[in-house]
Amino acid sequence: MVMPHQPAADRGKASTERPVDEQAAKPAHGHAGGHHAPRDYSQTPLNIYWEMTQACALACRHCRAEAMPQPHPDQLSFPESLQLLDQILEFGQPLPQLILTGGDPLERPDLFTLIDAARERGIGVSITPAATAALTQDVLARLRDHGIDGLGLSLDGSRAAPHDAIRGVPGTFARTMQAVEWAGELGIPIQINTLAAAETAADIPAIYELLRPHRIARWSLFFLISVGRGKVLQPLSADQAEGLMAWIFETSRNSPFLVATTEAPSYRRVAIEMMRSEGAGGDAIRKSGVARGFGIRDGHGIVFVSNTGEICPAGFLPLSAGNIRTQRLADVYRNAPLFDRLHDSSSFEGRCGYCEYHALCGGSRARAYEATGSAFGTDPLCLYEPSVTPPQKPASDG
Ligand code: SF4
Repeated sequence: MVMPHQPAADRGKASTERPVDEQAAKPAHGHAGGHHAPRDYSQTPLNIYWEMTQACALACRHCRAEAMPQPHPDQLSFPESLQLLDQILEFGQPLPQLILTGGDPLERPDLFTLIDAARERGIGVSITPAATAALTQDVLARLRDHGIDGLGLSLDGSRAAPHDAIRGVPGTFARTMQAVEWAGELGIPIQINTLAAAETAADIPAIYELLRPHRIARWSLFFLISVGRGKVLQPLSADQAEGLMAWIFETSRNSPFLVATTEAPSYRRVAIEMMRSEGAGGDAIRKSGVARGFGIRDGHGIVFVSNTGEICPAGFLPLSAGNIRTQRLADVYRNAPLFDRLHDSSSFEGRCGYCEYHALCGGSRARAYEATGSAFGTDPLCLYEPSVTPPQKPASDG
């Protein structure tokens, strides 16, 4: 995380984050892709991602922030973590879903106490643990018994070699598939997150076939954003991404589980165009699975709290608008200038500002920031040329 006021030595080391679907309130059977209460995303997010710790035993090649074996010395303490949970209540009903991420949330010794504390407050909790030796059948059973709504696991290859090469630790593929088996047997709803990058694209259909027999609720393809260790992997070109999005939409029609994207909101535009080409009208589109994500993007429907309490629009958009130690999460989300502008897609620069899909899509703010240096720039993953005319700049006097 590159935070304002953060020592340079700490930059890029805040934590890793396993992507969880930007469109899913709860990656769960009966929840994942289930109906969520309508809300004004400028007031209340659907999902709060809390990076509980940067500690993690894996060394994923695309880790955005180079997770470390040890927690950050300034990590939120247990009392501060309870204060964060109390602050979440200030959003009011319907409360956002809390997604525990990292690093590896299993590295927090107070994990189960904090899950209980969230549940006692009426906050729904999902978790994205790392696939290490700590992710045992017993731990999964405890997570279920403590009331988690869903489990997110990363799978970046259809075989051990490509997956373990990306995750940096041999045996991670086997552990992930074992966890899928156990979680399925325990009835824990599972979301699988798969990296979509140049290194994984050819294997994605085989990953889908591997997952098909399993009890998966949702499969989300995370379109790589090159931050942190992600810079050693190659993102898809816009043409490749467009082709993959078309494949995702086609695949989603017959998939036994929901198929979605992370950091690729232009998938909504691709899906709408494909539905329209087949004669689907607005009503059918609104009832389609892809409509669940309409309007959600980094900082609008999504907020990220780092392991040191920084409040960012998303894990892959490392701009802090405040810290929960000194500010209120709901106040920052609703009123901070950064969030204020992220809530207004018509204020975006370039195509994403005047595109007719801006309210439904708005582009990946994280990718725009990575590519242009502006969180309000155009998402370069999308080649769409809006059919509306760009607004004219006022003529210069000089
Ligand atoms: S131009 Fe921007 S807002 Fe329009 S579809 Fe592409 S990414 Fe979305």
